[in-house]
Order: sequence, then C-alpha cells, then structure tokens
Amino acid sequence: ADHCLTYPKNPLEVNWSQYYPEIHINEERTVKFLDIGCGYGGLLVTISPMFPQRLILGVEIRVKVSDYVIDRIHALRKAQPGCFQNIACLRTNAMKYLPNYFRKGQLEKLFFLYPDPHFKKAKYKWRIINKNLLAEYAYVLSVGGIVYTITDVKDLHEWIVKHFTDHSLFQQIEPLELESDPIVEKLYDSSEEGKKVTRTQGDKFLAVFRRVEDPFLI
Ligand code: SAM
Repeated sequence: ADHCLTYPKNPLEVNWSQYYPEIHINEERTVKFLDIGCGYGGLLVTISPMFPQRLILGVEIRVKVSDYVIDRIHALRKAQPGCFQNIACLRTNAMKYLPNYFRKGQLEKLFFLYPDPHFKKAKYKWRIINKNLLAEYAYVLSVGGIVYTITDVKDLHEWIVKHFTDHSLFQQIEPLELESDPIVEKLYDSSEEGKKVTRTQGDKFLAVFRRVEDPFLI
C-alpha cells in the first residue's frame, strides 16, 4: 500500500537538487525525461551518457527496488566522477502523483517499458496506461513530446495502441520516422525486464506516440 508515501503539494515544493546534487537546477534545467515504473534502472543508466544535458528521472513504487536504483546511481557516480549526475530515482506512485511533481508541459519524453500487464479484466483499472491517466500524461508532456512503450504482451500492446490512438492529444509515430531516433533501439534490451524477455525469447511490441496540440485550441 502507498498510504504512507509522502508527496509534494505541487511541483514548486520539489527540491530537485537533492536528486541531482551536482547540477544547477532552474526552471529550464529540470527533469525532462521520465521512466515510469523504472524497475532496476537499466534504461536510466543506458541513456544517461546519450543525453548529458537532460535530467532523467525514474519513478518506481516498490521501495526495495527504488532503494536499489538509488544505491546503483550513487555507486556509479562514485566510480566515475562527473558521470551519471543527470539520472535519479524517486519512489512514488505514478498513477497518483505525477502532477504533484511536474508542471504542465514540463516533460519531453515518457517511457513505459514492460509495464505490468494485469491480465485479468477486473484488474484492467490497474494498468498504468488507461483513459484517465492519458489525460495526466498529456498534461505533463510538452506539445511534441514523445511517449515510448514496449511490452512482451500482445494484448497489452493492443490496449496501449487503442487508448493512445483514441485520445485526441496523441498520435502514433510511424516506424519509418522512428528509425532516426537513437533511443528506440535501446528500448528493447537496456532494462532488466527487456533482458529477461530476450533470454526467454519472448516477443517485443513497440509503440511510440507524439503529444500533439489540442485540436480544440487550434
Ligand atoms: N521498466 C522496468 C523494466 O523494463 O525493467 C520494470 C518493468 S516491471 C514489469 C514494472 C515496474 O513498474 C515494477 O517495477 C513495478 O513496481 C512498477 N510499477 C507498477 N505500478 C507502478 C506505479 N503505480 N508507480 C510506479 N511504479 C509502478
């Protein structure tokens, strides 16, 4: 249960310097990439050197797992001074508190790598991608921002594509356009779950979406 989670009242209350101690944080230089349900942090560690100018955050609800990622990042920073300063991990419930942490339009990229499938119909409401939460993801993303999703569960993939394409603030990005995005190839294998799916020779279904301008505002 997450009833004991503390969380900020609004994004102004968040002291990002505690997560990125060597970086001077300001309104522009703040978290831009968010890995939702980051697990053991493999994606964070992989993309950290690819985007040294971007602050990247993983959020994870399981306390032991988030503690592991926090320790992992500390150890990497110690072993390689000056490196891995742009990644951090925070324990929170992403289904509840994102707008408490992030301003409207703050984020450039959102990642959902191998989210929990919640196979049973009665549990669909626990799926981290659902109709209500898409409105929150659209809120924290900037126009032009990108959502990356990958899963080994075909049914969940179809659910994800349906929900995003039904939503007026998102458009699916075509495979051809994805070829020039250096992040895409990292989605398959850099996280711990992705490696596990590779080991068990499971399928991987990728879908990427762009946050578009509100058609009712144009
Ligand atoms: N993305 C990681 C990877 O690819 O290795 C982890 C995948 S794992 C199957 C799903 C993760 O999402 C778990 O670590 C779980 O604890 C986390 N999670 C589930 N619901 C969450 C929530 N509401 N807020 C934050 N994290 C959540």
